[in-house]
Amino acid sequence: MTPHLRFAPSPTGYLHFGNLRTAVLNYLFAMKNGGSFLLRLDDTDQERSSEAFAEQIRDDLRWLGFAWDREAKQSERTARYEEAAAKLKAAGRLYPCYETPEELERRRKRQLASGRPPIYDRAALKLTEAERARLQEEGRVAHWRFRLDNSSDAAGAPRPTTVAWDDLIRGAQTVDLGSLSDPVLIRADGTFLYTFTSVVDDIDFAITHVIRGEDHVTNTGVQIDLFRALGAAPPVFAHHALLTASGDLKMSKRSGDMALKSSRNLEPMAVASYVALIGTSDAIEPLRSMQELAGRLDLSHVSTAAARFDLQELKALNARYLHATPYCEVADRLAALGVGGGDAFWTAVRGNITVLDEAADWWTVVHGTIAPTIEDAEFLGTAAGLLPAEPWGETTWSEWTNAVKSATGAKGRALFHPLRLALTARESGPELKALLPLIGRDKALSRLAGEAS
Ligand code: GLU
Repeated sequence: MTPHLRFAPSPTGYLHFGNLRTAVLNYLFAMKNGGSFLLRLDDTDQERSSEAFAEQIRDDLRWLGFAWDREAKQSERTARYEEAAAKLKAAGRLYPCYETPEELERRRKRQLASGRPPIYDRAALKLTEAERARLQEEGRVAHWRFRLDNSSDAAGAPRPTTVAWDDLIRGAQTVDLGSLSDPVLIRADGTFLYTFTSVVDDIDFAITHVIRGEDHVTNTGVQIDLFRALGAAPPVFAHHALLTASGDLKMSKRSGDMALKSSRNLEPMAVASYVALIGTSDAIEPLRSMQELAGRLDLSHVSTAAARFDLQELKALNARYLHATPYCEVADRLAALGVGGGDAFWTAVRGNITVLDEAADWWTVVHGTIAPTIEDAEFLGTAAGLLPAEPWGETTWSEWTNAVKSATGAKGRALFHPLRLALTARESGPELKALLPLIGRDKALSRLAGEAS
């Protein structure tokens, strides 16, 4: 059986690393198992959803290297939801309710005060036709609740009723439908709620596996009941723990903190590897393609404990990724940054950058103008006098520094550090063995003399 997966963001904000993790796990699962992948935009909340957010989500996913087989928008599927709702109504599983929020709140408080669980008491199920007609005459408009399959007779009091599934991450799971209120599926204004639309979509798009955050575990109990009420077998579920942000940052789509769009200076595969492997028992490594990463995916290795997202850790992974990146993979982007020097320059600097843009700083150090840092002019003067004649190559640095060492007696840091400061104006950086020939004799002489060049 071909697996069909989906990622279903609501376009009401930016993708952040938390929901990106959900996206990546679904995508990799589909890829690993030869399945299909649907991007579904859960835009039933018309007020908060926007096409601009939807486009940003698509753009973020494309940047990461996603290619989806299909896209669907819930706002375009109302007719299907109407049909499914009609089916549930005909079966007596969707019933009209007329309580106002205030009435429900009063009831809830009474229940709590008398030590009863605050679940909806199904009063509306007991209304007669005449009572309904009267409420409608009063101007009340129905909202519709799904009667959970948790009692022996239609309007009966809920009884403990276990819904069970074998979760690919959490193992055997149960939800007691008897402890839940019948959920509202259609609001009084006729709009549908996610609990319902998601199930109709999952049925219509033949979704076989749903990987999502553990904040949906209770929903899953309800949705499994809905799948059955609609005559469909539920998909396989996997619920991962949520990512928490470190420090004061917030993992929320309304706080821009963790938005992917502000991390576009990172390498897509470093980001994908990080979100796929964080919170698993596997080592976090930067893999070089989605295929390779998919090969690593094993949902049974995903931890049920919350994983902490750490931007510094991600940046370190990005650096590791760049260190192993061949020139041909970044040639175009380097050119766009105004960085030349081909393979030799890239190989010299890639071990010292965290993000690709930093290559441009080293390009300036090598070919642009910098103000050298002079610690000991006399020492540098001696060193300048010993600079070998060109052409320069791989051994120039050691020939030169050996000569400086013999002439001055300086060694170790006392020998190398002043030279580095003069030649690059930086405390640390790529190996001077590689940089010196790129800087060239003229520039080196000027810098050793303390001239900006
Ligand atoms: N739009 C829902 C969310 O973002 C989708 C959840 C699901 O995968 O079913 O939480």
